[in-house]
Amino acid sequence: MRGDSLVGGVSVSCGCHSRYKKGCESSQKTHGESKSEVYMVWKRMKSRCNTPTDKKYPDYGGRGIRVCARWSDSPEAFISDMGRHPSAEHSIDRINNDGSYTCGKHDLCDDCREKNAPANCRWATDIQQAQNKRNNRLITEFGETHCVTEWSRRLSIDTQVLFGRLNRGYSLAEAIAEPPGKWNRINDDIVRDVRRRSELGQSFDSIRMLYGFSERHTLDIIERVRYADVV
Ligand SMILES: [Zn+2]
Repeated sequence: MRGDSLVGGVSVSCGCHSRYKKGCESSQKTHGESKSEVYMVWKRMKSRCNTPTDKKYPDYGGRGIRVCARWSDSPEAFISDMGRHPSAEHSIDRINNDGSYTCGKHDLCDDCREKNAPANCRWATDIQQAQNKRNNRLITEFGETHCVTEWSRRLSIDTQVLFGRLNRGYSLAEAIAEPPGKWNRINDDIVRDVRRRSELGQSFDSIRMLYGFSERHTLDIIERVRYADVV
C-alpha cells in the first residue's frame, strides 16, 4: 500500500492536493476491516482534540485542532465520508497539518460551510504523513514565502507533482523548471511501479501525476510500448 492515499472528500477550495479517488473499493476488498476499527479512529480523534487529559491533547486540541461539527456529532458521517480503515498501517491524516479534522461537505455541514473549511482528511501511512509534514514547511523563493500547496496554486503546477519533486530533494526553482513529463528521469523501478499501480486499479491520472508523466508516456509504459524489456 505504500504510496497510496485514500481520500474522503472531493476537490477543495484551498487548493490542497489533487486526490487519488480510486483505491477505496480495492482496499475494502482486500482488507475489509470492520466498522468498529473506524469507530475507534473516530473516538481517538475526538479525544485528542477535546480531552485535556489525553496525552496527545497538547499537539491537537491544545493548539486549536478540532473536529468539525458534522463528524463530531456522528461517527456514521465520519465513516461514510472516509470509508473503511484501509489497513493497520494507515492512520487519519490532516492534509493541511495546521488545519482541523474537517469534512468539507458544505451542503451537509454548517460548521465547515461557515468556516469555508476544505475536506482535510485522508488515510495515510506514516511515511506519507512524514512527507506531508515536510511539505507543509514554508518555502521562500522569488522573494515570497508560502506553503507548498500555495506555491502549487500560484505556479499552476499540480500539487502532487510539486510534492514529488520536493520530496526528491529539488529546490522550488528546480522543481518548476521543467514541465510535467519532461522532468522525471525514469528507471526500471519506476516502470515497474507504474505498471503495478495500474494493475492494482489505481486511477490513470493519479499515477500520471505521481510521476509527472504525460498521458502518452504513461500509456506507453503501461501498455509496454516502451520499456518492454522491463519485467
Ligand atoms: Zn464538516
